[in-house]
Amino acid sequence: MSRARPFPLHAGVAEVTAVVDLTPAMRRFTLAAEAFSGPGIEQPGEIITLGWPLNGEALVLPELGWRFPEGTPAAHWRNYTVRSFAPERATLDVDFFLHGPLGHASAWAETARPGATVGFAGPRVHWEPDPEAGWTLLAADETGLPALLAIAEALPAGHRTVALAEVAGEQERQPLVSPADLELHWVSREGRAPGSTGVLLERLRALELPDGRGQAWGGGEALAMRDLRRHLQASRPGLDGSLRLLGYWKHDRTPADVY
Ligand SMILES: Cc1cc2nc3c(=O)[nH]c(=O)nc-3n(C[C@H](O)[C@H](O)[C@H](O)COP(=O)(O)OP(=O)(O)OC[C@H]3O[C@@H](n4cnc5c(N)ncnc54)[C@H](O)[C@@H]3O)c2cc1C
Repeated sequence: MSRARPFPLHAGVAEVTAVVDLTPAMRRFTLAAEAFSGPGIEQPGEIITLGWPLNGEALVLPELGWRFPEGTPAAHWRNYTVRSFAPERATLDVDFFLHGPLGHASAWAETARPGATVGFAGPRVHWEPDPEAGWTLLAADETGLPALLAIAEALPAGHRTVALAEVAGEQERQPLVSPADLELHWVSREGRAPGSTGVLLERLRALELPDGRGQAWGGGEALAMRDLRRHLQASRPGLDGSLRLLGYWKHDRTPADVY
């Protein structure tokens, strides 16, 4: 039913019930709402769109088809990943990369505590893996890391997988247990700012990918993802139909037409 699922499947206001720091820059929020006991997620790493009111006005929730009544006050909506889902407790976990107080979402994550509220719409399917693919490439910076980890945990046993996870440094690594035959590369920016390096592309260029039919998923800074896509299109033309390398955020220097 994935593709036919309406968007938003649910819209409402969730309450933060727990906050845990996974690493210095990655903070997990457990969000509770009655709707999360309903139909569950279908794929690992589905998208949940979170919303915050602006200018002290009440948050107006989207109607079916992401429509808002006329005159709806401005709000700040951003996409996040369902890291894990517990319908029996009507909760889901979302991991926020704390990129600084410049962004409304990130600033909220720096101070929100249990009892805080956030609007939500979703979840919705993010990526449908190809059951025929003989191997999988995953690539992400911190924003795509929750999805990368969720996907890797759900891959079939023994499935050949190469994963590239860009983080600021060793302190940002997270444990990963996957049934797949996984080669996980933590790619360090050595403290440099997100979106300011080409470390994912450098590491990808140095890799030998498996032969045969594969698939690739990635989530991270838009220009970095475009570079990975271009490299794979040129070096592995057979992968073209199975490439899903998505811009999850945009560095201020990244041109507007790059996704
Ligand atoms: C499908 C999808 C799933 C996502 N899942 C997650 C997730 O699980 N966890 C998560 O943390 N993010 C996730 N993101 C990324 C997140 O939506 C963006 O980082 C978003 O821009 C954050 O909003 P904001 O209000 O903090 O900043 P914005 O208002 O969007 O931007 C403000 C400023 O912050 C900068 N900025 C935005 N994001 C970053 C960043 N990551 N690093 C450095 N500077 C940044 C912008 O360039 C801008 O200058 C996801 C995005 C998509 C599309």
